[in-house]
Amino acid sequence: MNAEQDDTAPTTPTDDITRAALLVIGGGPAGFSAATAYRDHGGQGDVVLVSDDDTAPYMRPALSKDYLQGETEEPELALASGSDYATRSITLRLGVMVTALAADDGRARLSDGTEIAFDQCVIATGNAPVTPSVPGADDPGVAYLRSLQQARRLRETVRNVRSAIVVGSGFIGCEAAATMARRGLEVTVCSPEEAPQIHRLGADAGQRIAGWLREEGVRFVGGVQVTAVSGGTRVELSEGGPLEADLVLVAVGATPRSTLAVAAGVPTEQGRVLVDEHMRSEAPRLLAAGDVAMAHNRGAGRHLAVEHWGEAEAMGTIAGTTAAGGDASWDSPPGFWTVIGAHTLKYAAWGDGHDDAEFVDHGDGAFTVWYSRDDVLVGVATHEADDDYERGQEAVRRGDRRRGDRPGDRRGAAAR
Ligand SMILES: Cc1cc2nc3c(=O)[nH]c(=O)nc-3n(C[C@H](O)[C@H](O)[C@H](O)COP(=O)(O)OP(=O)(O)OC[C@H]3O[C@@H](n4cnc5c(N)ncnc54)[C@H](O)[C@@H]3O)c2cc1C
Repeated sequence: MNAEQDDTAPTTPTDDITRAALLVIGGGPAGFSAATAYRDHGGQGDVVLVSDDDTAPYMRPALSKDYLQGETEEPELALASGSDYATRSITLRLGVMVTALAADDGRARLSDGTEIAFDQCVIATGNAPVTPSVPGADDPGVAYLRSLQQARRLRETVRNVRSAIVVGSGFIGCEAAATMARRGLEVTVCSPEEAPQIHRLGADAGQRIAGWLREEGVRFVGGVQVTAVSGGTRVELSEGGPLEADLVLVAVGATPRSTLAVAAGVPTEQGRVLVDEHMRSEAPRLLAAGDVAMAHNRGAGRHLAVEHWGEAEAMGTIAGTTAAGGDASWDSPPGFWTVIGAHTLKYAAWGDGHDDAEFVDHGDGAFTVWYSRDDVLVGVATHEADDDYERGQEAVRRGDRRRGDRPGDRRGAAAR
């Protein structure tokens, strides 16, 4: 089960009640690290982690890369072994959904009819893939990629087909397209963007990513809207003829799974749970972390929406530490890496926009893009320029001016 259900009725009394000092909802990196950090920071009470995923917490980023490629198998994806959970006294409840939360009473109702009474709860319910509102996009034959369950199905299909269409040129779409091409499929990516990721990364970086896709033999059809998907094999476009392939993967972004939190009365912004730098919400007992959270970042001085693995892990660690009575806060610029075919792109940014993107070509395909807003550095993207990435993160954290003292001006000495 991965789509958010609208089952938000208040909890009703039941005899089957588990008690937990800490209830964690979600088995992604935020939930996993919240549970483990609680223990590691001296939390003594019972910890219960509930996830509607059918598998114990696993490495999601591999699903569009090594796992889809067939180079990594399921056991290698596990974030911890069964005995690790036992040693830390963390109880996993898998394949079960939390359907209602009562913050004041400290009660959660689960889809199996049981209840959990909790002292504190971390909401780490992540995102769900967006289903575009065009005919046929919700056909069961259309592939989406978020959970291991969906990845298993996609991997199996990819073994047996010859061609694929990827709708969307975000990171997951580009990664999966390159991986499927490496598995021998004829792959076409279609997108409203003229080049992948130009809105987030700028035109120059977008052209480089388009080049990386071409290297893998992926065809890119930009500047088009998908108007319908038929039978899970045919995509109608706003311009140009329809595309046909054995498989259609839709990867047009993700939406926070916050129905539960909203129904519990927790304040949200842009559909995400508003929390402070310690991951505490305004509701008593409730914290939130990861993709579903809109957390205050002390370094940025504002709330940020972030959808990166490492940041979800960091936010979960902060939530677990806070719940255990420790002191931790979120202050660094969010960063992530993506691997598209043979190329790794590293990106660190506050992530809420720039008004200037300065592209620096280092030769041999390597590059850095410095992003600024109102002349202040707000992000850096690099390909094979790790020194720029590391110093850029620091410069973004400090809020360096765009010109003069930014690390790119010293790049000649140290960038390569
Ligand atoms: C294919 C793919 C590749 C990616 N690659 C990268 C990458 O290379 N680099 C990077 O930085 N990021 C990558 N990401 C993004 C990264 O995985 C996410 O940012 C991260 O997983 C967010 O963690 P989270 O814990 O907030 O949420 P999630 O990982 O989405 O976990 C949410 C969990 O909550 C569960 N859940 C939701 N609602 C309920 C409920 N009501 N009851 C019980 N359980 C519930 C879900 O089943 C799931 O277990 C990738 C994502 C995908 C899908």
